[in-house]
Amino acid sequence: MKKSTLKTIRIMVSSVIFVSLTLLFTVPATWICAHLYGFQAIQWLPAAMSFSLAICIIWLVVTLLFGRIYCSSVCPLGTWQDICSHLGCRSRGKGVTQGWYHYRPPLSMIRNIVVIITFASLLVGITFIAAFLDPSSIFHRACSTILSPTVRGIPPWIAGSISGFILSVCMMTIISIMSWKRGRMWCNSFCPVGTALGYVSRHAVMRIDIDTDRCTQCRKCEHVCKSECIDLTSHTVDGSRCVNCFNCINVCDDDAIHYTYTRKQLSIPMMQKVNGPKTAATLNRPASSAQCTSQRRTDK
Ligand code: SF4
Ligand code: SF4
Ligand code: SF4
Repeated sequence: MKKSTLKTIRIMVSSVIFVSLTLLFTVPATWICAHLYGFQAIQWLPAAMSFSLAICIIWLVVTLLFGRIYCSSVCPLGTWQDICSHLGCRSRGKGVTQGWYHYRPPLSMIRNIVVIITFASLLVGITFIAAFLDPSSIFHRACSTILSPTVRGIPPWIAGSISGFILSVCMMTIISIMSWKRGRMWCNSFCPVGTALGYVSRHAVMRIDIDTDRCTQCRKCEHVCKSECIDLTSHTVDGSRCVNCFNCINVCDDDAIHYTYTRKQLSIPMMQKVNGPKTAATLNRPASSAQCTSQRRTDK
């Protein structure tokens, strides 16, 4: 498979779902509702809020197998952020294969607090917090309060509730500026769905892995990683924040980063226990050095 294939598929699927949901939320004509409603029905948090357990569980299983496919292809707010971050990249004179991102550690405390508040409030029957933060609802509100009146030629601030319009403008402005500057920062710091799926995707079977034998530390992958989750100091990718965009695979000229079920990394850099029979040489060495040698592990 060509290394650009995964990214091409991701862009095609996310484009179809993004356009379909935009149409559904903006022009709710009967034909559109009948044919495109399925894309709304598979959104994760609305399914959880309406107790559609099957959809929730299917997405958790998919995430456990393949990582955050949901965030790369299905969530319309994720695709909107990709558009903004791409424009931000262009505005800095960077091409598709360049970037300005750098690894940053996760804002774990904020992520955990947001997800605990969201799901605890749902459990006690308070839905407005989840509705406020749910990415599908944010996108739906933006389409129905800003885009829909605009295409009908009605000033959005008089078409419906003024508070709904102001809320949508504020949320979309904040998220757009964040993604313009920092890619998927909203996704990996404030979105409760992203954090919940991230708890699962950090243990995903298929994930991005760096082959340390091939990596030349050119840092191209780090610069295009909109999740800022590739740590080249330890050659690790934070699976809880990776949104499976496959940008990193596309730019690596050394074929050192893959989407795979295998792991090929140094367990403890340059120091690994020898499991063979003891030789005279090792027996004569001090205990600490006899147990270790500078040997790389090929852990396939
Ligand atoms: S983290 Fe949230 S906003 Fe971002 S793509 Fe995933 S579900 Fe959508
Ligand atoms: S692009 Fe490839 S070679 Fe360069 S730092 Fe990333 S994994 Fe290593
Ligand atoms: S690690 Fe690769 S696939 Fe994951 S978000 Fe970063 S660039 Fe995208």
